[in-house]
Amino acid sequence: MNDELSRIQGQMRTCTRCAEAGYPIQGPPVFSDHAGDRLMIVGQAPGIVEVTQTHKPFSGKAGARLFRWLQQAGWQEENFRAQYTITSITKCFPGPNKSGRGDRAPTRAEQRLCRDWLEAEIALVDPEVIVPVGKMAIDTFFGRGFKLTDLIGQRFQLDGRTVIPLPHPSGASAWIQQPAHQALIRNAIRHLQQVRGELESSRQQ
Ligand code: SF4
Repeated sequence: MNDELSRIQGQMRTCTRCAEAGYPIQGPPVFSDHAGDRLMIVGQAPGIVEVTQTHKPFSGKAGARLFRWLQQAGWQEENFRAQYTITSITKCFPGPNKSGRGDRAPTRAEQRLCRDWLEAEIALVDPEVIVPVGKMAIDTFFGRGFKLTDLIGQRFQLDGRTVIPLPHPSGASAWIQQPAHQALIRNAIRHLQQVRGELESSRQQ
């Protein structure tokens, strides 16, 4: 891993910006502790399992569904985690939402506080492919004017990188349960499968 990324990750691990601003977050921050430089997944924020038990991004129930999608694209979880980078828009657990049925969505202010960490990760990892997972991550890359149905199932070029958005894989998401949306997810998985082939064939050259 490059030295500068290692230095930035050290700073992220001790970051207290949100706590100092009064947000009820729980650390430590969670992100891949290595840099796979060709593909980066960007989620919303870690959940309680990731922060208190596994310290690995997308290792709770939502992560299990995400890795089922990635498996359909041809990746095994262990190899994927070893090869690629997984991070999020905000890197600490935001706590439960008011209903208690899911996690609180980080506020725009929290997203702004964490934004330069994400920008540093992208600049230093320099991935060819970015997979934003969930509306918050998708909005970060595409802007807030789009619906998921405008974007899921397609492959884009943004700032010289391939971007393939995925919906949030949370079991609480009604969006992913709808048959029409499941067809869009299958299209997205086909694009991921194609990208996997491209990454693997260029590695062999
Ligand atoms: S969410 Fe980001 S900005 Fe906020 S304390 Fe955690 S690492 Fe720092």
